Amino acid sequence: AKKQGKDQHAVFEPVMRESFQRHLEMEADLRRAVLRHEFQLRFQPIVRLRTGEISGLEALVRWQHPERGMIPPLDFIPLAEETGMIVPIGEWVLREACRQAASWNAQRGDEQPLSVSVNLSAVQLDRADLPDVVRSALTESGLPPHCLVIELTESLIVDHRPETLRRLQAIKALGVRLAIDDFGTGYSSLAYLRRFPVDIIKIDKSFVDDVGDVPAAAALTHGIIQLGQALQLSTVAEGIEDAGQLSELADGNCELGQGYYFAEPLTSDAMHALLFPGDVA
Ligand code: C2E
Ligand code: CA
Ligand code: CA
Ligand code: CA
Repeated sequence: AKKQGKDQHAVFEPVMRESFQRHLEMEADLRRAVLRHEFQLRFQPIVRLRTGEISGLEALVRWQHPERGMIPPLDFIPLAEETGMIVPIGEWVLREACRQAASWNAQRGDEQPLSVSVNLSAVQLDRADLPDVVRSALTESGLPPHCLVIELTESLIVDHRPETLRRLQAIKALGVRLAIDDFGTGYSSLAYLRRFPVDIIKIDKSFVDDVGDVPAAAALTHGIIQLGQALQLSTVAEGIEDAGQLSELADGNCELGQGYYFAEPLTSDAMHALLFPGDVA
């Protein structure tokens, strides 16, 4: 067995070394990216399903790598979390999202203000200063607290440390709203919905995908919407891609939705053009 282990070692070493090398390179690149501000935000509209009006935006981060081009979040957020760099990156996302939303709301004048949703990593919630970071992003930008939505995943809530709940309550006390992202994909009991001060449920795309053609998916989706209504939570359907899904969800009284059917995540210029069609850039 020992010999076999050694052989395996000989076989795998070059591969391991390469990926380790890549890992180190990527980590160095990420450090540089934080210093040089290589991150950008995209904004995806969140639409009121009954009327089609835009009620808010989700901010989604991108990394504009000088050689590798645009890197999607799933390709660097795990490393950013592992190295702690998600803390400065996430703080930038929060400030930038609040600043941009406040600026669009100012230009919209008397119209209903847009809300902006920001994804939060568990690593950010491990930090005692998170409520202060959120408060300063709000005061700095002038965005009213109820216009900010913090999105958390179920796993983050289920595996929470004792301090997590207190931090979320402190953020809630500012007037900020909390959303459960990817709802229905965790292994959780629903008990946490009573303990956590949640305002919004985001129905995972995997339910929405099949809502028009698989009866079980439709039943589960409608069940989630009714659960939301019973608990007086807003429901947002994620990943709506066609008119069939939209009508099924709207008929089922899902309040809000987002997805390629309405718009992909847009650059701030493209979002600006969508919000202010009369404006000449
Ligand atoms: P998420 O929070 O569930 O965001 C929704 C993802 O679905 C986005 O991918 C969005 O572009 C994509 N999407 C939206 N509508 C559709 C659709 O109709 N069809 C399909 N196929 N996809 C759709 P994206 O931007 O690549 O982000 C992936 C994940 O990365 C996010 O999932 C979120 O978990 C994470 N993420 C993004 N930005 C941040 C951030 O600033 N901080 C943290 N911690 N995580 C982030
Ligand atoms: Ca999200
Ligand atoms: Ca999601
Ligand atoms: Ca489908």
